[in-house]
Amino acid sequence: MLPEDYLAPYAAHSSSASTAVGGGRRYPEAAHSSRSQFQRDRDRIIHSSAFRRLEYKTQVFLNHEGDLFRTRLTHSLEVAQVGRSIARNLRLNEDLVEAIALAHDLGHTPFGHVGQDVLNECMRDHGGFEHNLQSLRVVDELEEHYGAYNGLNLMFETREGILKHCSLPNARLLGPVAIRFIERTQPSLEAQLTNLADEIAYNSHDIDDGLRSGLITIDQLQQVDFFARLYRDVQQAFPGLTGRRAIYETLRRLITALADDLIVTSGALIADAAPRSLDEVRLAPPLIRFSDPMRKEATELKRFLRENLYRHYKVNRMRVKASRIVRELFDAFMAEPVLLPPDYHHKSGDGDGDGGSRQARKIADYIAGMTDRYAIREHRRLFSLDEL
Ligand code: MG
Repeated sequence: MLPEDYLAPYAAHSSSASTAVGGGRRYPEAAHSSRSQFQRDRDRIIHSSAFRRLEYKTQVFLNHEGDLFRTRLTHSLEVAQVGRSIARNLRLNEDLVEAIALAHDLGHTPFGHVGQDVLNECMRDHGGFEHNLQSLRVVDELEEHYGAYNGLNLMFETREGILKHCSLPNARLLGPVAIRFIERTQPSLEAQLTNLADEIAYNSHDIDDGLRSGLITIDQLQQVDFFARLYRDVQQAFPGLTGRRAIYETLRRLITALADDLIVTSGALIADAAPRSLDEVRLAPPLIRFSDPMRKEATELKRFLRENLYRHYKVNRMRVKASRIVRELFDAFMAEPVLLPPDYHHKSGDGDGDGGSRQARKIADYIAGMTDRYAIREHRRLFSLDEL
């Protein structure tokens, strides 16, 4: 295994990870000669089938609406990029950050958040559906790679980082990986960091995609002080600059401002708390944070995007159509289980619950694994007599 001397003592190390919570892998494996534990996790995630499907899953815009919009795949890559840059500055474990970033959206349904909301309603009497939990379920149970066990057998720290949030009842069911939600302790700094790298990535790329789609405009964005200020800086540096270049110049300043603020603020918090190990990080308050003024700016930007982009009537229209597809697929499979592909007849669903709930879980797993275009095609195959 490669030495990790360059990491700070408070980073997650392959060798000493999670002594307090009995971490490591669920199924013990010998260390690899040329890769660290978290490099191996990252590699397993990249080779998973759920990872490849991210290419055809919606971020905000449906996958087929345009070739230049972000998908879950490019979003995850952007989160990994932002996360790694920040991690290196704080001497955190970049490989762990990358693994969590690439896996954090593996459980996303087709059609973005609406898919999750509808599936959650469909699963109301069967334990619900939450994309975060599903990401963990993908790496723990659903990937079929190894002879000896289900899932990818990832490290504890990678799994806890994927499980960004979790309700108390679910935490009780999940055991050690969710114990921090019961004990109110913190995950690794790498997990805290990836969570905010996610926010930096989507705030910036949703502006870009929103402008590209024409659903929001530069003029409208001037309402957001943070954006207006950066845009003015760009105009000062390049008088008269317009179009793609002006947008990109503004967004690169936006990412830099957010990332730099996170590095400086978190660096100071870490220096103050001076944790000497990951175990001490767990007991400290959250140490990866934006400064208060930057948190305010980011919140204002998020509010703008929510009101003007995520709730735009054109986005709403797609949302209604997508929710109909997901609901009709679920209802059809529940009413006629023979419609499920043969692969899924043999899957066990969840270990807990009655037969009906196990069946429902199997169906939720199947639908959640679909890409946008697969869901549309499957819906057509089930409801149109012209297609089989
Ligand atoms: Mg994300």
